[in-house]
Amino acid sequence: MSLPFLPFALPEIGDEEIAEVVDTLRSGWVTTGPKAKRFEQAFTEFLGDPSLESIAVNSATAGLHLALEALGIGPGDEVITTTHTFTATAEVVRYLGADVVLVDIDPATLCIDVAAVERALTPRTKAVMPVHYAGLAADMPALLALAKAHGLKVVEDAAHALPTTCGGELIGTLQSDVTVFSFYANKTITTGEGGMVVTRDPELAKRMKVMRLHGMSRDAFDRFTATVPSWYYEIVAPGFKYNLTDIAAALGLHQLKRLPAFQKRREQIAEQFHAAFADLPVITPPRAVDGDLHAWHLYVLRLGPDAAVTRDLFIERLFAAGIGCSVHYIPLHLQPYWRDRYRLTPQMFPHSQHAYERMLSLPLYTRMTDADVQRVIDAVRAALA
Ligand SMILES: *Cc1c(COP(=O)(O)O)cnc(C)c1O
Repeated sequence: MSLPFLPFALPEIGDEEIAEVVDTLRSGWVTTGPKAKRFEQAFTEFLGDPSLESIAVNSATAGLHLALEALGIGPGDEVITTTHTFTATAEVVRYLGADVVLVDIDPATLCIDVAAVERALTPRTKAVMPVHYAGLAADMPALLALAKAHGLKVVEDAAHALPTTCGGELIGTLQSDVTVFSFYANKTITTGEGGMVVTRDPELAKRMKVMRLHGMSRDAFDRFTATVPSWYYEIVAPGFKYNLTDIAAALGLHQLKRLPAFQKRREQIAEQFHAAFADLPVITPPRAVDGDLHAWHLYVLRLGPDAAVTRDLFIERLFAAGIGCSVHYIPLHLQPYWRDRYRLTPQMFPHSQHAYERMLSLPLYTRMTDADVQRVIDAVRAALA
C-alpha cells in the first residue's frame, strides 16, 4: 500500500479566510477597497512601528519594481543582488533599463556575501538588494553600513522573511529604503498572489502609491468613498496596475493573524528535521543566531562531502517515495538570459554553484502532520543509505 503523494508545499487556508472572502464577494466591493486598507494597517501594526507605511500590491515582483522606480533607478545605473535567488529579484532592474550585477553568497548562510558586494561596487552602483534566503536574515548590519558609506539605496527582497528578525528587529523595520514581502501561494502567508511594500520614507510611499495604480493622483477607493463626490483625478505618470484586490486582502487579514502560530509550527518541523538528520552526511540549514527569528520559509538540505548519492538521485529517490521536493534556486548565473547578457560563468560564483549542485528543499509547511514529517525523515534516511 503506498501513501498519497506529499506535495512540496500547500497553503493553509481556514474557515475564517473563506468566510472573509465570501463576505467580500457579497459586499459588492471586489477590487481594492476597505479590506486592502485594513490589511495595510494590520501589517504596519504587526511590524510594530507606526512610522512605517505598508502598501499592498498584487505581487512582490510588482513591489520590487515600484521600489526601484520610486528610487529613480534607470538606464546607466547598476543594482547589485545575489545570484542565488529567484529571477524576480533581478528582472525588475531590467524593467527599468538598469543593469544587474550579480554576486556570490556566503556559503554558511546562502545569503548575499557583503564582501562580494563591496568588491562589485562601481561609480554606477545605485542600489543593493539583499534576499533573506529561506527565511534567515542576511547580514544587514554589515550591508547597511556599506550602503551608508557609499550612498547606496537598499531594497530588501523579504519574500522569504515573514516573520524574520535581525538583531532582534523584525525585517521590515530596519533602516533600508524599502522592504518587500510576498504572499505567493507557497510563502509563509498567502493571498493567492500578493505582496506588501514597506517604507518609512513618505516621499517613496507617495510615489509608489501613485505608480501602483496607473499614475493616478488619487486611488479609486478615495474617489468613490469621499464624502464629497469626486470624479476628478490627474494622471501624473505612466503608472502600473499593481493594486491588491479586496478578495486577496480578505485572505491576508486572517493569514496575518495566524502568522505567529504558523512560524512556531514551521520552526518545530525544522527542529525535528535538524535532530533527525544530525548523524547523516548532510549539511542542515543554519539556525538564526542569538534568539533571532527564522521564518523557515524553506528547509534546504545540502549533501555533505561523504554523501554516497548525487543530488539528482537523492531527489529521484524522494519522489519515488512520494515526497515532493524542489531546488532553490537554479542560480541566475546559469539561466540563459542572465548568463548570456552578462557573460557569466559558474567560476564567478563558486559558493552558489557548489551549493546549487548539492542542495534540495524538503517539504516544510504548517499543514504537514507529525506523520508527514516522519515520512519525510524516513524517506531522507532511506534515500541516503
Ligand atoms: C516568491 C519570490 C519573489 C516573487 O514573489 P511574487 O509575490 O511571486 O512576485 C521574489 N523573490 C523571491 C526570493 C521569492 O522567493
